[in-house]
Amino acid sequence: MHDPNRYDLHTAAEAVNEGANDSELNILRDIFRMLPCGVTLQDEYGHVLLANDAATAQLQVGAAEPSSEMGQRREAATELLRAGRAAVVEESTASVAGKQVFLTSHRPVRIAGRDLLLSSSADITEQKAFEDTLFRSAYYDELTGLPSRRVIEHRVNKLLAQGGQASQAGFALAFLDIDNFKHINDYYGHAIGDALLVEMTRRLGMTLRESDMLSRISGDEFLLLLHPVQSQQEVAEYLHFMLERIRAPLFIDSSEIFASVSVGVSLYPEHGQSYDALRQNADIAMYRVKNNGKGTAVFFDASMEREAQARTRIEQSLRLAILEKRFCCVFQPKVDIRTSQVKGIEALVRLRDDEGVIQAPGTFINLAVELGLIDELTHLVLAEIVKSIDSINETFGPDTTISINVAAKQAGNAEFMRPFADAIEQTGFPKRFMIEVTEDAFVTKTLFQDEILPILRNIGVGISIDDFGIGYSSLSALADITADEIKIDRSFITDIHKRPRSQGILRAIESLSEALGMTVIAEGVETYEELAYLQAATRIRYAQGYYFSRPIFLEDLKPAVPRSSESRAGLASRPAQESRPAYSRAGRYRR
Ligand code: C2E
Ligand code: MG
Ligand code: MG
Repeated sequence: MHDPNRYDLHTAAEAVNEGANDSELNILRDIFRMLPCGVTLQDEYGHVLLANDAATAQLQVGAAEPSSEMGQRREAATELLRAGRAAVVEESTASVAGKQVFLTSHRPVRIAGRDLLLSSSADITEQKAFEDTLFRSAYYDELTGLPSRRVIEHRVNKLLAQGGQASQAGFALAFLDIDNFKHINDYYGHAIGDALLVEMTRRLGMTLRESDMLSRISGDEFLLLLHPVQSQQEVAEYLHFMLERIRAPLFIDSSEIFASVSVGVSLYPEHGQSYDALRQNADIAMYRVKNNGKGTAVFFDASMEREAQARTRIEQSLRLAILEKRFCCVFQPKVDIRTSQVKGIEALVRLRDDEGVIQAPGTFINLAVELGLIDELTHLVLAEIVKSIDSINETFGPDTTISINVAAKQAGNAEFMRPFADAIEQTGFPKRFMIEVTEDAFVTKTLFQDEILPILRNIGVGISIDDFGIGYSSLSALADITADEIKIDRSFITDIHKRPRSQGILRAIESLSEALGMTVIAEGVETYEELAYLQAATRIRYAQGYYFSRPIFLEDLKPAVPRSSESRAGLASRPAQESRPAYSRAGRYRR
């Protein structure tokens, strides 16, 4: 089919290349034809006068039905020629080979006395696909397909920008956090953890409107935008049903998993005027839910803000205390209740706060774990022990074991435990150390049992299960635990002589530990009666508690202990009132 408006290629080449001979022209024509980028020349009506092979394929020039790309090209040419301006545009075509994207630059030119549009197109399909992948990974979560935090932030900011208009209804921003996700992940493995996130996403997204948005902002945290909302009541009801849906058991890989979500909600305009304020207040409300039993939704209120500020203050002073190394250790002996010999000591950390007041770990340990400051703190404790080793030896004897508490979260973390084990080895007396961890470190399938324990064993460090009986594990879990020592929680020891049920539990733990070759320690012995019961009715050999000694500062002790004192306490003798415990050089306690 010959288009009368179409230049003969030969003529065109001649026009621009006067004087060239035939063979040169042939070469030029071949080069033009085979150029890898598409080249076209169009007239003021958009008719294609000239197209090389690449352009012909791209635009399907000459096809019986003009392609839609061709139609657009025509319009663009007419426009650009009329305006007399150049342009660079992205064009895409759909062909059997799939979608292709071209970057085309159009330029008005004057050739042979006519105003024409010269265009060249480069294929940028691959580049585009790569850009798309980058874009998606920046704005969408790969696992759940949900938009990222940037997308929801952008959306909220757009709503806020319209917020001045009276016609605009309010919106709610909900911060969602899956409860105990880390436990689930540790226990069932990452594949199931991922499947859980996908299923949660499905359940959370089930009844959303077009104008709502669910976003995954980190591991197990989601932000939900509900817009528009008319009242707090409406949001509360919506979330109530959503949480019901979440609570239904999940079946993943033949495991039945129960999961719940804690939700904190802030409302616009009541609870904040910016994205950051609203998100933060929703987060604060969520934090409240976590501390009050999880699994529900709570709206932000001003009292929470004060609480959060107080928390931030503690956080700041904790960070400062670590920086300034304002931590110190007290030591509490573990005593052989049959011989009064001090078997070992436990280092317990103390914080000297901004005003110089000594704080017990109850006020800061959990926060330190949560803030990721605990690792540094534990290294400080070890350093303090090394620094005090001469005093320790002098006071308690050179063969006593030295126990350090390690939080369950640290115990399963190889990144902390490996260097920590190295540091213990470098003290030169690793065999004297024991690590105390709570049973939680053993129940979940953490690295602790498989990877960390062998390292500790290898350097001769002992393992102790702290606070046994109050954690997640059951008696049967003991069988899988390879530890040297088990410390029965104080709650079982308090008034043991008056509590038959505790006595039964104690007997059970005792015989199990015996069978498994673990030493039993009774924690928190405070009274003569408790001690007398342990001595008379059990085979338990060791105990720790205020009855023998409160945790002590070594420097406090020194002046009180005449170095020659070698007296030995009588077994279960009634202690003199208010007498202060002291230790002989041989490491025996006396009162
Ligand atoms: P824990 O390891 O079970 O230590 C025993 C706690 O009971 C200590 O409290 C000790 O002072 C207290 N105690 C000892 N005997 C008695 C008694 O007869 N009666 C009563 N009522 N209490 C007694 P403390 O020093 O306040 O430490 C509390 C917890 O903080 C520790 O419990 C331990 O879990 C944690 N902790 C202490 N130091 C560290 C540390 O360096 N790192 C880590 N991760 N945790 C630590
Ligand atoms: Mg302990
Ligand atoms: Mg304990």
